[in-house]
Amino acid sequence: MAYELAPLPYPKDALEPHLDAATMEIHHGKHHAAYVANLNKAVAGNAALEGKSLEALLADLNGVPEAIRGQVRNNGGGHWNHTFFWKLMGRGAGGVPTGALADDLKATFGGFDGFKEKLEASGMGRFGSGWAWLIVNRAGKLEVVSTPNQDNPLMDGSGRPILGVDVWEHAYYLKYQNRRAEYLKAWWNVVNWSEVASNYAAAKK
Ligand code: MN
Repeated sequence: MAYELAPLPYPKDALEPHLDAATMEIHHGKHHAAYVANLNKAVAGNAALEGKSLEALLADLNGVPEAIRGQVRNNGGGHWNHTFFWKLMGRGAGGVPTGALADDLKATFGGFDGFKEKLEASGMGRFGSGWAWLIVNRAGKLEVVSTPNQDNPLMDGSGRPILGVDVWEHAYYLKYQNRRAEYLKAWWNVVNWSEVASNYAAAKK
């Protein structure tokens, strides 16, 4: 098997009460697991694709045969996005960013609150399913963007994600039903800012 589902980096109830254990269990154990299984199915038997890293695969979707391109895009994107998402959260996390990230969020968005408003608006503005991201764009600047489905900013080279939030209904429906805005506000309570800062430092290199 080319790609594997890593265990959640914390127990499934670690993000309670903001993200409930049942949602985490289904989201990781069913949705994410299905992306991994379907990605493996799509690339099976294609030695050139099986030998590529997931990032290299997503950054060159035009190099994927057309017959499986949609499968690789959706399931490969789903695998990358969720692996990234789990690490962005943690037990007893939340709070505020510090250091260079805090300074640059202030310079770009007028402050942490300005950034939060922008990301929430981006997630709310995504019709249907998708993601809202904080990226370091090609100019090396922080930017908030949104992608549909399981797309991400690696696919078109628009930038490197340093934070992202899943706005598919499967991410919040059990606890928040249709209230995506409430989920997005609660999500800040579980963001692991040291992971985001480390993503930022890596993206700036
Ligand atoms: Mn999801």
